[in-house]
Order: sequence, then structure tokens, then C-alpha cells
Amino acid sequence: MFNDQITVQAIINGEKVKAERHEARENPTHPEQIAGYAPINTREDAVRAIDAAHTAFASWTKVAIEERIERMERAIQTIKAAAPDIAELLSREHGKPLYDAEGEIGVSLAWMEFACQNAKDVLQNEMREDENGKTIIAHDGIGVVSAITPWNYPLSLSTIKIAPALLAGNTMVLKPSPLAPLAVSKVVEMIAAEFPNGVLNLVHGEADVGVELTSNPKVAKIAFTGGTGTAKHIMKAAADTIKNMTLELGGNDAAIILNDFDVNDERAMRRLVISNFLTAGQICMIAKRIYVDRSIYEQFVEKYIEAANKWIRVGDPFNKDVTIGPVNNKKQAEFVQSLIDDATAKGATVVKLGKVLDKDVFEKGYFLQPTVVLGADYNDPIVVEEQFGPTVPILPFDGDEHAIELANDSIYGLTSSVWGDEEHAIEVAKQIQAGTTMINTAAVQGLDVRFPFGGVKQSGIGREYGKEGLLAYTDTHIINIPKKGELPYIPE
Ligand code: NAD
Repeated sequence: MFNDQITVQAIINGEKVKAERHEARENPTHPEQIAGYAPINTREDAVRAIDAAHTAFASWTKVAIEERIERMERAIQTIKAAAPDIAELLSREHGKPLYDAEGEIGVSLAWMEFACQNAKDVLQNEMREDENGKTIIAHDGIGVVSAITPWNYPLSLSTIKIAPALLAGNTMVLKPSPLAPLAVSKVVEMIAAEFPNGVLNLVHGEADVGVELTSNPKVAKIAFTGGTGTAKHIMKAAADTIKNMTLELGGNDAAIILNDFDVNDERAMRRLVISNFLTAGQICMIAKRIYVDRSIYEQFVEKYIEAANKWIRVGDPFNKDVTIGPVNNKKQAEFVQSLIDDATAKGATVVKLGKVLDKDVFEKGYFLQPTVVLGADYNDPIVVEEQFGPTVPILPFDGDEHAIELANDSIYGLTSSVWGDEEHAIEVAKQIQAGTTMINTAAVQGLDVRFPFGGVKQSGIGREYGKEGLLAYTDTHIINIPKKGELPYIPE
């Protein structure tokens, strides 16, 4: 349905807006081919979108919750019907294999459904009454939300914001990343069509559009997912008007393999490999450094490489046998390679993993063969920095205290995982600084849309998913009706 001539447009106040300039989105598997075209919108376009959202807020926020839910449910049905076409488009522009693109749509829908099912309960006003009087606790919409999203999971990281924001009575302007703008635009278009004009707007572009979305006084909240460096600019841009913010940022998630982990547990080992390499490692919550108890280090490395060689099959995302596609863009592939080169130059051993299935494609696209890096130093960039690509360092540790210290020695604190005997692992998990810690699984395998997700330290502020992810788009408004309304210590 969506061929390589697809051209997506901005949506402002219910209208598709023709842009003067468009940018071709290259196909990372075949960089000589185009995946489609996205507009380069201007700051003026962003202002118009914010104005439209601002005007729409006045009436949208008064619409009954039942109607908001009904509209969102209709959008869910439209997306479901178009899912195969959306998945293909996403694979083509992003480089993730088709099964992975389908998985992303599945998570997006699961969250939208959860949000619809829980919106009424979570967002309804509470009334408390006692001998002192009555209090209404209202969860009001905040206003115009600017949503800014990255390229790695463009659909799920957009719907994670759109569904709760609109259900809670907010309006939105969303800006996706220019590195994966196509499939998300189709999804936003499908959702926007079910809502009154101006409730959900879409603009494309680079940092200049982002700056407007984060500094414009009519924007009340920013919902941003992306790099920690970008978030620092956003906080500064938003400071003048003190905006509400949810920030989902980078991570450098540790996987701790305890001395009682069974290295012969093939299912667990496969889960760990997937936790490192799904989506070519381009996931905020992927396990990005593995620490192994020294007493089992050698056996672990041997079995890990065995498991990785079985699961990893690199090639064309449309080849059904492929588990890992290319890196999304040249800059990212070069960055990951530079970390590997740096580790090699310092004496680390780099072991290639898995099979390359489509050799011709591999040579021309932005592919990196997945690797493990052995013998790196604890402070090497490959260990300390967020690689965001198909490589992972494995390092030994001496005792649980050491493992906890290594895991916590990071500016990040998104997710983490502990592998071994369950009780032992839980004890260690409690001491790790992270928004989520998983036991004997990691990354998206342990993700559950029913529970809040987010980071500590420089991995973010606030939570998405779960009931918390709905309340994040509300301001609490207290209406107090005290019986007397007089303070006991004030004299007559
Ligand atoms: P990025 O920060 O470069 O870009 C994210 C978005 O911000 C894009 O839409 C971009 O155009 C926009 N942007 C850039 N400069 C801006 C500015 N000055 N003001 C406003 N917007 C601006 O991130 P990326 O490279 O697209 O994504 C990768 C990063 O995202 C990684 O660090 C990853 O860990 C993180 N991420 C975090 C989560 C999470 O839930 N914590 C999920 C996915 C990705």
C-alpha cells in the first residue's frame, strides 16, 4: 500500500499541509534507494500547529471521557486493519526486520488498549468527605503537549504519549525524528482523523522546530524521548515558562550474571542474547554491558557465544530468516564502529557473532556484524557510553558488592537485569539504581505496558505506561469545601 514514492505531510488543525521542501528518507538496507519523503517544516509551521492545539484545547478538555475513549478505540481499529502495511513501511525506512516492526505495532496497540480500558477509572474525579468537609480531587488536562520522539521505536514511543495525552483531555503537536518519519506519520494521520481538528497535530523537521515546540509559551507540557544531551537543551528552552515534563532518555543498562546462573540454561542464554541485540541493539533499554561473576566467566563467555551464533542472522529485514537488520543510519553505524575500534586499539578482543545471510546487501547497507568485546577496561568508552548498536562488552566482577558498584557507576539508570537464583537476584536487584530491574530476563522481554516505565538519574524524569503514564498528562486540581473554613488559631 505504501510504495517508495510515499510522501507524508504535516497535519495542522485537521488539514494536511503541503510543505515547500521535502527530504528523502533513505532505506538503510539499500542506501541507494529511497524509503519515502517527509516534509521539512519550519518554525512558523510549528507555531501554527501549537496555535491550533491551543484553540482546540478549550473545547476538547470539556468532552466527556466516554467520547474520548470511543474515538481512541476507533483509531485502534484503523491501525489494526493497516498493520501489515505499516510494518512494511517501518521496516523499509528503519531497517528493523519485519517481525520486529510487527512487534512494535503490537506493543503500541496493547498500550493504547490498556489506556482506553483504564482511562475512566484513573482519570475520574475523586470525592473525599469527612467531618471537616468535602474535597474534590480532579485530574485535569494540562493543555498543549509537545511530543518529540526518536527514530528507534517511532510508533510505540509516539503512541505511548498520544493515547494518555488525548484521553486526559490534552491536545498535542507531535514531531517525529527525521530518521524514521514515515510509518509514524501514517499512524498519527489515522489517529488524528478520529479526533476534532487541532486535537492532534503533526509537524516534521529538525532542531529548529524542536526549539519552537519546547519554548513556545502556549505549550504546557513536553513529552520527550531521545538522547540525554538533547534533553538538556530542552530543559533550558522550557525553563522560561516552567513547563511540565516527561523525559525518557538514554541508558547504559547493566546485566549482572551471578555465580549461581546456570550457563547451560539455553533458554535463559537466548533471552540474554536477544536482550543485547534485538533491533540491532538500538533500544534505550537493551542490556548494554554484561558483568559476570569471575568464577563462571570463562564458561559463560563460551556458552554465550554459542547461543548468540544460533540466534543472530543478519541481513535484509524482509528476509524471514533474518533476526537482525542494519543500523538505522550511517552516523550511528560509524559511532558504534568507532567504539569497537577504540576498544580494539586498547587491546580488547572483538568476537563476531552469528551469520550474515545476505552478503550483497550487507556490503552496501549500514550493517555491522554483531560482536562481543572481551577484555575491555571498566572505564573504556565501549563500557561507559551508550553504544546503541549491535555490540556488547562482557566483563568479570569479584563478588556481588563489586557488581552492584559497577552497575551503579553510571550517569544513567534506565533498566538493568540480574541473572541467577531468583532470591539471590532479587536481593542484588534491590540495590541497583534504575527505573526497572528484571530478573532472568531483560530489555523489552520484561516490559509490561501495565506498569510504569522510566529512568532515574540522567535517564529521565517521570513515567510512561501504567496508570502513572495516564496521570502524567494531568494536573491535579483540588476543590476544597471545608465545613467551617476557619483556622482554630485565629482569634475572634
Ligand atoms: P535525539 O535526542 O537525537 O532526537 C530525539 C528527537 O529530538 C528527534 O525528533 C530530534 O529531531 C529532536 N531534537 C533534536 N534536537 C532538538 C532540540 N534542540 N530541541 C527539541 N528537539 C530536538 O535522539 P535519537 O538519536 O533520535 O534517539 C536515540 C536516543 O533516544 C538514545 O539515547 C536512546 O537511549 C534514547 N531513547 C530513550 C528511550 C526511553 O524510553 N528512555 C526510548 C528510546 C530511545
